[in-house]
Amino acid sequence: MNLTHIEHIGMAVKSIAEASKYYTEILGLECYATETVEEQKVRTAFFRIGETKIELLEATSADSPIAKFIEKKGEGVHHIAFATKNIADALREAGDKGVRLIDKVPRNGAEGMNIGFLHPKSAFGVLTEFCSPQKISDNS
Ligand code: ZN
Repeated sequence: MNLTHIEHIGMAVKSIAEASKYYTEILGLECYATETVEEQKVRTAFFRIGETKIELLEATSADSPIAKFIEKKGEGVHHIAFATKNIADALREAGDKGVRLIDKVPRNGAEGMNIGFLHPKSAFGVLTEFCSPQKISDNS
């Protein structure tokens, strides 16, 4: 799998503007980037803590996966993302080992990353993401 660290933790929030205050004013972190990923109907804001990031996720429309998540479970931890050196291989390997995949092949995520999700049913309830920078993706 070549997993190297927790790249980020994704938090579903109703409002990035509201939730950001907690991360900046209370925890003292700094928001270093915001980005909208149209494909996923989500707006994101990133905070760095060591090698790991906190990714706030806000729905951009009512049919966004984030809107549905909040409807069902409320705000909170949405997913954990592991950094991997080769996301295409990692997804293939997980699939070969019987893990149910949401993404069989990598797709575009925020911050110029290739991302792919494992189904929470195969990960003991945790929506799990693999990610790697686009430039060193799947040329194996
Ligand atoms: Zn993520």
